[in-house]
Parts: sequence; C-alpha cells; structure tokens
Amino acid sequence: MQTSRDGVHWTPKTGAVDGIPSISVIEPQQFHLPEDGELLDAIVIGAGYAGLVASRELAIQKKKVLLLEGRDRIGGRTWHGTIDGFNYEMGGTWIHWHMPHIYHEMSRYGLQNDWIVSQVTGGQHDIFTLTAYGHQANMSHERETEMFVKTWGTFCNVDGTFLRESMTYPLSANLTTKYDHLSCQDRINQIRDQFTQQEIGFLEGVLLQMGGGPLDRMGLTDALRWYALGGFTGTGLNDIALSTRPKCGQSGIARKIFDHAVRSGLSYSFSSPIAKIEDGSYVTVTTRSGKTFMAKKVICTIPLNVLGDITFSPPLSPLKQAAISEGQTQKCNKIHFDLAGPDMKSWASLGSPGKGLIAALSDNTTPANDTHVVTFGPSADSKQGMKLKNNIEGIKNALYHLLPFKREIKRIVYHDWFNDEFSKGTWCYLPPKWVSRYLAAMQEPHGNLILANADWSNGWRGWIDGAAQQGIESAAKVVEALDSARKSSRL
Ligand SMILES: Cc1cc2nc3c(=O)[nH]c(=O)nc-3n(C[C@H](O)[C@H](O)[C@H](O)COP(=O)(O)OP(=O)(O)OC[C@H]3O[C@@H](n4cnc5c(N)ncnc54)[C@H](O)[C@@H]3O)c2cc1C
Repeated sequence: MQTSRDGVHWTPKTGAVDGIPSISVIEPQQFHLPEDGELLDAIVIGAGYAGLVASRELAIQKKKVLLLEGRDRIGGRTWHGTIDGFNYEMGGTWIHWHMPHIYHEMSRYGLQNDWIVSQVTGGQHDIFTLTAYGHQANMSHERETEMFVKTWGTFCNVDGTFLRESMTYPLSANLTTKYDHLSCQDRINQIRDQFTQQEIGFLEGVLLQMGGGPLDRMGLTDALRWYALGGFTGTGLNDIALSTRPKCGQSGIARKIFDHAVRSGLSYSFSSPIAKIEDGSYVTVTTRSGKTFMAKKVICTIPLNVLGDITFSPPLSPLKQAAISEGQTQKCNKIHFDLAGPDMKSWASLGSPGKGLIAALSDNTTPANDTHVVTFGPSADSKQGMKLKNNIEGIKNALYHLLPFKREIKRIVYHDWFNDEFSKGTWCYLPPKWVSRYLAAMQEPHGNLILANADWSNGWRGWIDGAAQQGIESAAKVVEALDSARKSSRL
C-alpha cells in the first residue's frame, strides 16, 4: 500500500510521523494525459466525492474527461488510512441508507451489506461523561439520550411543530430561510431559562461538535436542516449521521467510483494543484506549475474556504465572491486515540468549555484489542480551539480533560485539516445569513464553468451525501450542454 503525504501518526516509540498508508493514493500519479492543444469535453477539478462522481458520470457517457487533483490521493475530505490492520477515517466517516446519493453508490458497487456500527454497548465502562463548566459527571447512555432529546429538540423546535411545517421536504432546494438571520448563540439565548447550567454545557458541546464555533458564527439554518434531515426526531440525526460507517473504509467506496471512471476512459493527473481558470469560447485551466489544459466545460469541486486562492477570468459574480470571502465556519480538529485495553469501548463524552476537545466517542476495538476513540475539538482558530502541529502533549491533555479515568494512550492519528491548503477547514457549516444571501448564487453556472461541492449542495449539505449529489447534478448539466451543442452543430 502507498503512503499518502496527508495525515500524522504518533506512537510513544516513533513520535509524530507525517504520512499514512492508504488505498486512496493513486499510482501512477498521471495517466493518459491529453496531447498539447487538445480540446477535451470536460475537466473536473478535485477528486473528492463530488469530483469522483462527476468524473465517473462523464466517463461512462463517453465524454473525454480529465481529472486534476492537488493531492496524491482520491477522496478529498473523506479518506481512510490503514495502520496495523485498522481503518482510521481521517475525515468524513458516517453514512447511512437514509442518505440517498451515497447509499446509491454503495448499492451500485455491491457494498450494501458492508457496514460497521460505531457505538457499541457492553464495554466495562458503558457510560457517558459530561464535563460542563468545571463539573464532571458520569451517567448512563439512556440519561445522555434524554438530555440530548430535551436540549437539541427544544433548540430546533422554532415553529412548535419540530420543523415538520417549516422544513417539510428537507432534501428540497426551497427550504425556508426564515431563521437564517439568527446564530446558534441567538437561539441559545432565547431558550436558556429552560435549562440548567449542566444542560447548557451539554447543548453547547453538541452544537460545537456540529459547527465548530464560535456559536455566534454558526447560522441556525444548518442546525435546523440537520434536525429535519434526521426525520424530525430528537435522536434521528445521531442515528443517521453518527452511527454507521462502511467496513471497507471510505476510500474503499471512493476507489470503486474512481476505478470505474478509469475503466470508462478517464484521464487524470494527481499532485497537480490548479491556479487559474479562464473562460472564453472554451475553458483553459492552468496548474501551479504552468501546465495548461483546455475543455468545453469545467466542473470545479474546490471547497468554499479554498476557492479564494484560485484566479478566475472573467471574475466570479460579486455574490459568489462575497460567499467565498465569508467562507464556512467549521474548522474543527478530529483526532483518533487508541487507549490501552478494550474496557472503554462503550464510552462517550462531551465537554464545554473543553480544553481543545469537546466530544469523544469510542468506536470499536483495534486488532490489538485496544479501544479506538474518535474525538472532535472546536474550530482550531476559535478561542477554545487547539493547534495540532508539535503539540502531542496538548492533544493528550485535551483527551485527559474529557476522560473519567486516566488511560494509557498508545496511538494518536489525525489530519490537520485547518492547516491543509486544499481544505482550510472540515465539513461545511455556514454562518448566519449565508444561505439566504449566497446559496442560490453559488449554485449558478459561471459561463462554461460549474462550481460543485458538498459545501453548497441542497439536501445533506456539508456531508458526503451532498458531495455525491453535487457530482451527479453537475455532470448531468454538462452532459446535457455537450449533447445539445453537438446536436445543434449537426443541424
Ligand atoms: C474531519 C471531517 C469529518 C467529517 N465527517 C463526516 C461524516 O461523518 N459524514 C459525512 O457525511 N460527512 C463528513 N464530513 C464531510 C465530508 O467529508 C465532506 O462534505 C465531503 O467529503 C466533501 O466532498 P467534496 O468532494 O464536495 O469536497 P472535497 O472532499 O473537499 O474535495 C475537493 C477536492 O478538491 C481538491 N483541491 C482543492 N484545491 C485544489 C486545487 N487548487 N487544485 C486541485 N485540486 C484541489 C482537494 O484536494 C479535494 O480533493 C467530514 C469532513 C471532515 C473533514
């Protein structure tokens, strides 16, 4: 297996080492590149789920398509590394059969039975630990669920119908923007007197895990959408979005899509960051190293927080530019820990204010029979956030703050998404007013160019499913435009 440049792996013996073995690394890095001056049907920029699905759709429709990617691997913000026989999901992880676009990909490739449940019961310490405002309490998972349903349900019940009236069809493009001017902090202030301080700490932990924070930079709209996508129930979002992951690892699915596209004629170039996109009667894409490629249409899947680094000619519309310069809020850290022994395998925790991490959940045991714990911090650039580089002691202490008992840490694995030039953040969580001001504008084509990314999808925006949806939708638009241009040139 090749080792990606991405990711960091620490053990007491090796210290922190850059790079993680992963089936997502593509070898050779270039394949079947076009001749100089050749005009392709389409170029897809970015090999995350949006770009992979778009590339596959175009290739199977016999379009001449080139995929350009800055990294050495596929998957973008969703990939897994394999260490000592265990798959560490470095980014996007949990998916579900109630996420229609990604479930379609699983069933298409025969992976519909390939699931693992993350949160298992029956461990020696089958408990939830809440560390809120200096006070730590252990409780049962049943009590945790009660607290979740009460706080999260009250938070989202802005219309008295648990959103059944305001967001009746949560996958639709036309969701209400009535609450979009409010931040999560505004909403907490409206309902604060219904809760104890412990419950407020719990709710803040839940929200910071969702959006990274600070809470006044997190729009209320995305939280409400997620509640509606969870089936309008207090536990639905957790059941769908934090519970099941593919046994083959996320890169197992991504590889199926990529390999299918290559079998169908896709050309590609990895480790090829692009710098400029110029649109005229056709589109010219220039890499940082100065190589140019030309195509009739381009699908650019670069994430919101990175788009500002690309030169567009003609410039993007003022609304798109404003959307990009405001960016998205979620810049959290996700860190894996292996704890000695299996006894913590049913543990979960929230802590607010935390000391660099605000949430932890155990996710099975490793082949060495150690507990694998996944943790999340608030946005790395927020007041409570944590820098990861050269900070192994800080990372350990952040976990110790959440743990009810001291445990030996045998391994730490992470990807520093905040300092990653190709993401500058994690999953998309939008600030107040962004949706009402910019969402429609971001989804509009720009001449021969379509911007497509989970960050501005409908439905599961910010999730893997939203990326797959954007890939399908953008490729369909490009195929239609190419086919109708060919038809009219024949007339
Ligand atoms: C830590 C973390 C946890 C997450 N957890 C979940 C989860 O549990 N469930 C879930 O559904 N979602 C989760 N997500 C969100 C999910 O991973 C993303 O929404 C999804 O992967 C985005 O896919 P995309 O193709 O739209 O964008 P990306 O995956 O970001 O793909 C864009 C691609 O463009 C490339 N690129 C950027 N700049 C350039 C350039 N200049 N030149 C060439 N290429 C460039 C990038 O390298 C990348 O490969 C998580 C994300 C993170 C980071």
